[in-house]
Amino acid sequence: MKVAEFRSAGEPLVIVDRPMPNPGPGQLLIHVHRCGICGTDLHMTDIHSCFNPTSGSVLGHEFAGEIVQCGPDNEDRWREGMRIAALPYIGCGYCVFCLSGRPTRCASGVSQASGGAMGGYCEYTVVSAMNSVKLDEGMSWEEGAFIEPIAVGLHAVARSGMRTGARVLILGAGPVGLAAAAAAKVAGAAFVGVAARTDRRANLSVEMGADEFFQSDDELADRFRIAAGDTPDIVIECTGAPGMTALTSGLAGYGGTIVMAGACMQPDTYLPIAPTVKEVNIAFAVYYSRQEFELAANLIAKGAIKPMPMFDGVVEIDDLPAKFEELRRDKSACKIMVRP
Ligand SMILES: [Zn+2]
Ligand SMILES: [Zn+2]
Repeated sequence: MKVAEFRSAGEPLVIVDRPMPNPGPGQLLIHVHRCGICGTDLHMTDIHSCFNPTSGSVLGHEFAGEIVQCGPDNEDRWREGMRIAALPYIGCGYCVFCLSGRPTRCASGVSQASGGAMGGYCEYTVVSAMNSVKLDEGMSWEEGAFIEPIAVGLHAVARSGMRTGARVLILGAGPVGLAAAAAAKVAGAAFVGVAARTDRRANLSVEMGADEFFQSDDELADRFRIAAGDTPDIVIECTGAPGMTALTSGLAGYGGTIVMAGACMQPDTYLPIAPTVKEVNIAFAVYYSRQEFELAANLIAKGAIKPMPMFDGVVEIDDLPAKFEELRRDKSACKIMVRP
């Protein structure tokens, strides 16, 4: 089978031929139909990465596929031919984290995102049966591959402790920011604003659920207040850029909450007195739970969240290495998916 293999940071992915993996106990072998290309994959493999995936690892953590073989201990729940999406994490299956739906916290877990397990940039991959969800009949493969990034948005909103009627400002109009906008709206936000440096995602932000798009500049706080009627109760940082802790805490209202969901990998300084005088709550968000992944699947299946406006097309696996390098330079596409 064809695999797009990571060799080393700064080097393009390489298509190689590998034997089909075997599903172990508690696992399923799937034929990957779509796998989203994520900014995280790009960051993980660039020369400034602090992830350092091991050479030979297979990235890609936003995938959906068809079961071709069930593990030896499979019970009735899974059958060959079923269409599924899966969390890109394989935990031990027995610890408190695995059983409570947080395999990302499992001490002996491996993840596709960190290169510890097979990802979706290949024709066949092995997933955890307990962390898989069946795709609704009407759901397309693309929608199936969007479950993961939508779950990221749901989790970021959950971390904010948002109440209905809240005014929410989201910084960043990439897939995470847009997923957070959709999630905040579904969760009952009264006003959702999305802000970004360029306005190329202005229409897309509104399509994904934002009430208004703002171009980020020095007047952002004022323009948000005029549009929303007050300062934000919640600011969700989805860019990962340094300097955002200061910016988000400056934007949040008194007693507001900021959620750092952008995974900044550089030192970030801020003056603590600014959030102190406003008693701002700070939360950090990463990944999602199995329950949030299932919720994402349900919301997409029911049409409550429609991710397809973010979709910009597919690339065949042979063309993935070149496309992957192109996406490092050209940020105009929102979500490209591989069709292995
Ligand atoms: Zn991702
Ligand atoms: Zn575990």
